[in-house]
Amino acid sequence: MEKLAIFGGTPVRENKIYYGRQCIEQDDVDAVVATLTGDLITCGPKVQEVERMLCEVTGAKYAVMVSNGTAALHLAAMAAGFGPGDEVIVSAITFAASANCVRYCGATPVFADIENDTYNIDPEQIRRLITPRTKGIVAVDFTGQAVKLNEIREICREHHLVLIEDGAHSIGTKYEGQPVGSIADMTCFSFHPVKTVTCGEGGAITTNDEKLYQHLMRLRTHGITRDQAEMVHPTDAKWYNEQVELGFNYRLTDIQAALLCSQIKKLPKFSKRRKEIVAAYDEAFSQMPEIQVQKEIPESDTTRHLYVLRLRLEKLTCDRRQFFDALYAENTCPQVHYLPVYWHSYYEKLGYQRGLCPNAEAFYESSMSIPLYYMMTDEDVKDVIHAVKKIVDHYRK
Ligand SMILES: *Cc1c(COP(=O)(O)O)cnc(C)c1O
Repeated sequence: MEKLAIFGGTPVRENKIYYGRQCIEQDDVDAVVATLTGDLITCGPKVQEVERMLCEVTGAKYAVMVSNGTAALHLAAMAAGFGPGDEVIVSAITFAASANCVRYCGATPVFADIENDTYNIDPEQIRRLITPRTKGIVAVDFTGQAVKLNEIREICREHHLVLIEDGAHSIGTKYEGQPVGSIADMTCFSFHPVKTVTCGEGGAITTNDEKLYQHLMRLRTHGITRDQAEMVHPTDAKWYNEQVELGFNYRLTDIQAALLCSQIKKLPKFSKRRKEIVAAYDEAFSQMPEIQVQKEIPESDTTRHLYVLRLRLEKLTCDRRQFFDALYAENTCPQVHYLPVYWHSYYEKLGYQRGLCPNAEAFYESSMSIPLYYMMTDEDVKDVIHAVKKIVDHYRK
């Protein structure tokens, strides 16, 4: 048996790789540079161009670019009309921003447990949590796999709920052949560097609803409108604009939009490579009884943002912490996604109790995300599989 690096053995590789990283090529650089010397470096043509591209990629009628994914969620929650006294059902395993957007509006997140095999929000748990105060659902396509959109949309229809899909992981994914972004009432995307396409910081909301679209556009720039139909004091004076509600400056620059235009063109190749890596991992790990491979529902044709390695702890003599540290020492560095949101001390102080979502908690205690990104070579993938196998061999019961 190979000696683990954490106990003084040789790591499977010399340099560290992490769970995600961006791919910026020369043409991406050129696109940014060209914008810098143009007339407009914000509120210019590149923002509109990338919005059109996003509509093409997602099949949505409208896209609103914003400064990051969290801003997208915030505006979506506002446009949904969430407010004090409302309850909004949120996946328990997600990035905190999925729940924070509900709090920004003064509403109450109600955490729903995940399914043990897909790790996505469980529609049965959603049904159980609905009360007369429930106003909407924020469902995250965790790892990139689409949530059970048919079941969830049916629940929304029955109970008149707004569905916000947190698609921060799922650009490029299709559900029953239809791209994510055109199915929920609003879908929010993030273009942070670990995500499948990036512009440094950036986000977007897509929707098919014209009213929501107009509202989101207004909220993005302070709640100010130039449309006389929306004004309390309409005039055709050229300088006049009117703030009709409280909004924000959540605009994206043209510099970033130019980078994103260039990146979105590469989505097919990014997606293809990610699928290859996932297939290689799935094949290797499905032969190890100590590892649980994430279930993929047939409706979802997934572009995976994260690859979750889930341990069957009952078959191992180590815990997640020891496995994580061992993998880190092999220089194939994992990360954990995510702490159940209500375990954060902020939510704890609001009164959320441990034990609320048992599947989510068990998931957290047994999983970590291993490297998955376009730039990984076949050699890198082999190293990660090698490192996992080495550690499993060491800690097998
Ligand atoms: C990345 C991410 C966000 C937030 O996006 P930012 O662009 O970093 O603000 C929201 N939800 C999920 C699930 C994410 O992974």
